[in-house]
Amino acid sequence: MMSEPVLAARVAVPVPLQRLFDYRAPDGGSLPPIGSRVVIPFGKRQLVGLVIEHGPAETDSELKPISEVLDGGLIPPELLGLIDWCTRYYQFPPGEAIQLLLPVALRRIKPFRAPPADALELTPSGEEAVLSRAPRQAEIQNLLRAGPQLRQSLADAGFSMSALKRLIEDGHVRPTEAPVRVPRKDDLVLNPAQRQAAAIVLAARARFAAILLAGVTGSGKTEVYLHVARRLLARDRQVLILIPEIGLTPQLVRRIESRLGQRALTYHSGLSDGERLACWQAARSGQARVIVGTRSAVFLPLARPGLIVVDEEHDASFKQQDGARYHGRDVAVLRARQLGIPIVLGSATPSLESLNNARAGRYRLVPLAERAGGAVQPRWRVVDQRGHKGAMAPALLQAIERHLEADGQVLLYRNRRGYAPVLMCNACGWQADCHRCSAHMTWHQQLSRLQCHHCGSSMPQPPRCPDCGEPDLAAVGAGTERLEELLSELFPAVPVHRVDRDSMTGRDDFEQLLETVRGGGRCILVGTQMLAKGHHLPAVTLAAVLDVDQALFSADFRAPERLGQVIFQVAGRSGRGQRRGDFLLQTRHPEHPLLGQMLGGDYLSLAGHLLDEREAAALPPATALALLRAEAHQAELPRDFLKQAAGLLRSSAVELAGPIPAIMSRRGGYWRFQLWLQAPERASLANLIQARLPDLAALPLARKVRWHVDMDPIEL
Ligand SMILES: [Zn+2]
Ligand SMILES: [Zn+2]
Repeated sequence: MMSEPVLAARVAVPVPLQRLFDYRAPDGGSLPPIGSRVVIPFGKRQLVGLVIEHGPAETDSELKPISEVLDGGLIPPELLGLIDWCTRYYQFPPGEAIQLLLPVALRRIKPFRAPPADALELTPSGEEAVLSRAPRQAEIQNLLRAGPQLRQSLADAGFSMSALKRLIEDGHVRPTEAPVRVPRKDDLVLNPAQRQAAAIVLAARARFAAILLAGVTGSGKTEVYLHVARRLLARDRQVLILIPEIGLTPQLVRRIESRLGQRALTYHSGLSDGERLACWQAARSGQARVIVGTRSAVFLPLARPGLIVVDEEHDASFKQQDGARYHGRDVAVLRARQLGIPIVLGSATPSLESLNNARAGRYRLVPLAERAGGAVQPRWRVVDQRGHKGAMAPALLQAIERHLEADGQVLLYRNRRGYAPVLMCNACGWQADCHRCSAHMTWHQQLSRLQCHHCGSSMPQPPRCPDCGEPDLAAVGAGTERLEELLSELFPAVPVHRVDRDSMTGRDDFEQLLETVRGGGRCILVGTQMLAKGHHLPAVTLAAVLDVDQALFSADFRAPERLGQVIFQVAGRSGRGQRRGDFLLQTRHPEHPLLGQMLGGDYLSLAGHLLDEREAAALPPATALALLRAEAHQAELPRDFLKQAAGLLRSSAVELAGPIPAIMSRRGGYWRFQLWLQAPERASLANLIQARLPDLAALPLARKVRWHVDMDPIEL
């Protein structure tokens, strides 16, 4: 008689293998339910794993028992289903589920000491204490006089842990379970367009609907989210707001809290393990009503989900570029569908992917075409840089001067940090290139070093040309550091603020600067992408993009879309207050048709053109694209691996191209190649790759190169 097959727990284990592992029930116990967090023996180690499913054991060999069940049924089946889809679609090992589903504190075997109560209050001695010699402590004392505050809100407000610790040690402040009250500011008055947009979302409040809220800069998209959120909170639902980066969380969180009269918890990589665990647990229990997080928050367990918002949905940071390469926005849409709740994707410059989904009827496009509060869009003008050697053409400098004289603020966008993008020898033409990348090194004058922005290597300035010995090396072109220097010389009476990763290193530097700038008074802001994003700076009357020419001729098919997004976002910083603003675009190619399309109209019509072009060229989002990427120190290895892989992937359902070099063909010492796989449907493409993955992994060269599949790649 055949024996019954043994029922096994299929466990995701944090190892980079494309499979689950079977274990039997712990000795003397029964099989833990799916979603349980367990300790399992793996080789000589004990690891934390997650039970993903139950099934008949796949091997005849004796199964090892689960060592210990840490939490039974910790992860809800809905999230396990989402992860299952992600591992199949994005082709990452099931073990990555551990990283995505569990905060660090729960990935360890050691029991995690629960963080102390997350609110703090003043003790009677703290009420009395005179703290005039410790101004930061006195500020905290003042804040707490109004009632208990979350540790995290205090940290978000810029108070250091050491100041807090001191107050607790001195007995002035203690943890408390008392609820934190957030006073609600009742100033949510929507204009008719905003009201209509909110009504559309609310009409779908109990079912899945994907709404693409395409609101021009300044149209008040956030007010729409918050209005809808408030209604759902009133029905005891949770609201999850995904944002691209943590940079602006404190500012956003304070705004959300005061509008909703609710604590908002944050979830992102800048938090301590304890803070992340606290948020995770509060999301799972339903205690956290409003959660603001970066892409990883899309995998938070939610007790009573009601609404997901993806703010700045076009932002590339929603795509994870290593490990589990998922797109946070797309996963959020799938999750909302599974949960049967609405999702709002908001942007002034929506991605072509989302606009294509709207065209196909999968998303509902809700445009907000007018700025709220009566502000009008700025006047646009192209500044022809031809015939001018400097970084800024005379017409641009005159405009800057005019706006400063009228007490306006000026915002200049340049997507290059450092002093100069190239250091060059005028005698022989030598250029400082990175030895590990196909790229120039950037000259940073303040650091007196050359830096590669791609691999991080750096070196001091060579005293003379390494090729011909010429002592004078020339800095060619201008990054933000040089622009800051130039502008300070040209406008000595006006403060010049540089905003980039080099100048804004402290946690609050940028926010403090924004506060100062919002206080009014003329100034010049010069900076990188950080400046282009979502900030409301009402006194800025002139915004300019200094260099678009590289993007006009990029080999990346997404370059025109990205350029359009940057240009409309930067233009959107200008004239948001009482006075109408100007926007200038400096270029040496004023006749370029793309610039003509932008000047002619609004972002949505530009995006419409670009989408037509993608369709005509059969490029995403009109078709599905996946890249099989490979890299190694010797160029022939990845090329040969991809040639063999192409043989294995050949099918009537996909079009193959390559191997071709990546746009940056060498990075960090690795030669990078890719194979393009295109198909009309995303699902069939993913299925084909999934089916052939074991064959790819079995190729002998697969162990000699670094390789991975990138579904819906956003970098080429
Ligand atoms: Zn030389
Ligand atoms: Zn490099």
